[in-house]
Amino acid sequence: MQQHFIGNRRVAPASGESIPVVDPSDGQVFDEIARGNAADVDMAVAAARAAYEGDWGRLTAAERGRLMHKLALHLAQHTDELAQTEARDAGKPMKQARADALAIVRYFEFYAGACDKLHGETIPYQNGYTVLTWREPHGVTGHIVPWNYPLQIFGRSVGGALAAGNACVVKPAEDACLSLLRVAELAAEVGFPPGAINIVTGYGHEAGDALVKHPGIDHVSFTGSPNIGKVVTRAACENHTPVTLELGGKSPQIVFADADLDAALPVIVNAIVQNAGQTCSAGSRLLIERSAYEAVLARLQPMFAALRVGSAQQDLDCGPLIRKTQQQRVAGFLDEVRRDGLAIVAQGSVDPTAPRDGFYQPPTLVRDVPVTHRLAQEEVFGPVLAAMPFDDEADAVRIANATDYGLVASVWSRDGGRQLRLARKLRAGQVFINNYGAGGGIELPFGGVKASGHGREKGFEALYAFTVLKTVAIRHD
Ligand code: NAD
Repeated sequence: MQQHFIGNRRVAPASGESIPVVDPSDGQVFDEIARGNAADVDMAVAAARAAYEGDWGRLTAAERGRLMHKLALHLAQHTDELAQTEARDAGKPMKQARADALAIVRYFEFYAGACDKLHGETIPYQNGYTVLTWREPHGVTGHIVPWNYPLQIFGRSVGGALAAGNACVVKPAEDACLSLLRVAELAAEVGFPPGAINIVTGYGHEAGDALVKHPGIDHVSFTGSPNIGKVVTRAACENHTPVTLELGGKSPQIVFADADLDAALPVIVNAIVQNAGQTCSAGSRLLIERSAYEAVLARLQPMFAALRVGSAQQDLDCGPLIRKTQQQRVAGFLDEVRRDGLAIVAQGSVDPTAPRDGFYQPPTLVRDVPVTHRLAQEEVFGPVLAAMPFDDEADAVRIANATDYGLVASVWSRDGGRQLRLARKLRAGQVFINNYGAGGGIELPFGGVKASGHGREKGFEALYAFTVLKTVAIRHD
């Protein structure tokens, strides 16, 4: 059994119980992880507190940065191993898993360099006063990580929290956590003090719930679904624990008739196929100016039809979904599409040599999806793209903003004024012009509005979320 990682050592779960680990590519159990509970979380929070008040907390910002940089280099030497682990555990095609392993290296590199550049200000005040602000770490931060990008989300969330000086307790998703246990070991190897990084595996309603409610947790970074985001917020508010929420999306890609389609179309396809559509910022709605609607769909048709789905090791265009129930959920959306008489423009295919019991779902392009249809409103978390026409700029903005979500949006047009008009009016945390960055951009602040969450991670901005500001007013006349 893969045990927890607490205080720089593997620790057996207090429950003695385990959770099977399934390979999404073939549906077979290949490992097991510890089923964490409140007692394990207690132990991890105590280890983190001891690190924060001890060896980890005593490091200067420059020393912290040096250690994080050492970890970045060490991770860089293990990208193959981490990518293999992630590919099997999360069912990612190898090229995606390699990209994720490189991304965590970049996160630690970025945040290593940021440690000693985070500082407060002096504020002009009354005569006879000097007023300063200090950016202090929260203390012990809790991190709830989903299964879709464990390495990347650990990198952005834990990387930022460590850079700000916090000690961390991480609860990865029960469906994919093996790579993170290995990252924590690698951190110990380069000299992270015991307790700076702790990992408790297990179910959300057990280990996750215990972490969020723990009075020793000073800040929670939650990445996951909007519904669990609400549950977590309610639980955290019992202790007035601040929460950053990185939730889902139904992100629009808006294509005007003047767009460079040669550049746009491959990006549009990739933004829904990447990680089999299991990306919070997947470009899952395609809004096309009516005059170009048929032409764009005609060009996308063969591109979708050519997409091939297979196992992580086959490394085709698209891998499996994370679990059987997720595959059934996506298939349910397509049943509704057929029932409601919507037209499927094209569908990819599952490679005939893909393992029989893998959780495969061919990428699908659906046209004329009404704005109020479930497929235009809800996060599918699978490779299904909903296309719909719009008449003009105002119509595009109206449709783009007409969901509960607001994570990412993109505008494809050669008209500079239009690009900026739309960027202002779109309700989203990130707007891309003539490109799309599903999941990308280590340096770029990222986060949502509305049901996509609040608070920002990634970039330097994350360091503000992982610190509290203290104002010190000194009277000296
Ligand atoms: P989920 O909300 O079911 O689970 C996310 C994490 O929360 C898991 O670790 C889970 O164990 C834990 N959890 C579940 N119940 C909990 C509870 N009561 N208390 C504490 N923790 C609990 O989400 P998922 O299905 O694993 O992930 C998919 C969702 O995550 C999608 O909605 C996706 O858009 C979102 N997501 C968002 C981002 C982002 O940055 N905005 C990134 C990746 C995924």
